[in-house]
Amino acid sequence: METIFLEQWLHNIIRKKLSGDPEYQQFVGRENIDTVTRDDIDRYQLFKLRKTLSYAYQKSTFYRRLFDKNGVRIDDINSLGDIARIPLTDPADIARQPYHFACVSLGDISRATTFTSSGTIGPQKSVFFTDGDLETMTDFMAAGMRSVAAEGDVVQILLPSARPNDQADLLARGVSKMGGRPVIAGITASPEEQLRIIDEAGSTVLFGLAHHIYRITQETRHRHDLKRKGIKALFVTAECLSETMREQLRRAWDCDVHEHYGLTEMGLGVAVECHAHNGFHYNEADLLVEVVDPESGAVLGSDEEGELVFTTLSRQAMPLIRYRTHDISRLISEPCRCRAATMKKIAKVTRRLEAIAKIGGGDEIYPSLFDDVLFAVDEVIDYQLTLGKVEGRDNLLFKVEVTTESEAVRNEIYRALSGHPTVRKNLATNRMAPPRAELVGKGTLTRLTRAKKLIIDRR
Ligand SMILES: [Zn+2]
Repeated sequence: METIFLEQWLHNIIRKKLSGDPEYQQFVGRENIDTVTRDDIDRYQLFKLRKTLSYAYQKSTFYRRLFDKNGVRIDDINSLGDIARIPLTDPADIARQPYHFACVSLGDISRATTFTSSGTIGPQKSVFFTDGDLETMTDFMAAGMRSVAAEGDVVQILLPSARPNDQADLLARGVSKMGGRPVIAGITASPEEQLRIIDEAGSTVLFGLAHHIYRITQETRHRHDLKRKGIKALFVTAECLSETMREQLRRAWDCDVHEHYGLTEMGLGVAVECHAHNGFHYNEADLLVEVVDPESGAVLGSDEEGELVFTTLSRQAMPLIRYRTHDISRLISEPCRCRAATMKKIAKVTRRLEAIAKIGGGDEIYPSLFDDVLFAVDEVIDYQLTLGKVEGRDNLLFKVEVTTESEAVRNEIYRALSGHPTVRKNLATNRMAPPRAELVGKGTLTRLTRAKKLIIDRR
């Protein structure tokens, strides 16, 4: 059985929703919905948005108060653009009073996740899901997985696994839904052990955090021929995957690399790359995406970079309306080269608001900024960046984990760093001290417990 293109699957999900909802058909005055146009999707989203607003107003203390305080009336929301009348919801609102967001009784909550985003900083948040919410989520995971795997494929899941309904468990259910066999390998096994699991289980797809899969690759590729492991796709998540990392992974395993964008508040799966490998499609029947100016909150147009803002369209336990993700990206206006030309796309998320530091003349520094140049060095496994001051000037100190510590590797790393445009510019204007790199051996840095890597700012 062949893999099914993601776009085809998403289209099917949306068509099924449109044609299976008599209330919607009455709303648009149409009974037969065979083909789905962009207008159909927009109309369906407006229909679902109004339903979500009314549901949240009736059931959640937070949204009832927010709407009343700001004079938001559902009858005033007559187009998707009218959503801008509703104030944004911040992650701190959830952290303060998670139960004020709940729209169902505690007995109907099947999954409650408490987490801190951005690694170790930021407030703790709790999010809730009903059985129905989990079904929707695992349906989307199945769709995403089905685009790289077929029935009978063995998907090795490299995510922390401890409890029923955690991310690893839900993804395993998504894999089963598409006819694959999930193997939960966790994240504590060593790279060698992960390879052994691949051999024993006959895994054909690996799903895990980008830096974890990169580490396994770098630590084992000299002793093993990874191309012969039978892996046909790598599915990476949680962090920005630079093009050089993608290329290194593709070469090492001789297979396709797909990226996935997830957010814990949304229940992991949000958007998945299609075969065009340029941006992420998402389930537009269940999610409305806007991009806003992170400072003013004003809605930005397509292709303008800003903060992603999500409105869930079918969540039962905890609908989120205009929820600020703190993730910086943009919506791509150019129709996708894949078959889903009618569907919208989110571009790569390059950085999170919490992870941005300013240096020198005001240039932004964020964790993925140096990925392209550093991961182009063959020996690099991972790195960590600390910001400091040297004689009043900003200084970048890189701790770089490498497979071999040698003078040649050190020189190559220095060449890579000094060629970076931000470094070049700030050195030229004397606003930055020359960057320093400290080489450390295999296994020194591990980021497995952190969802997103951060810069350490010691200034
Ligand atoms: Zn596409």
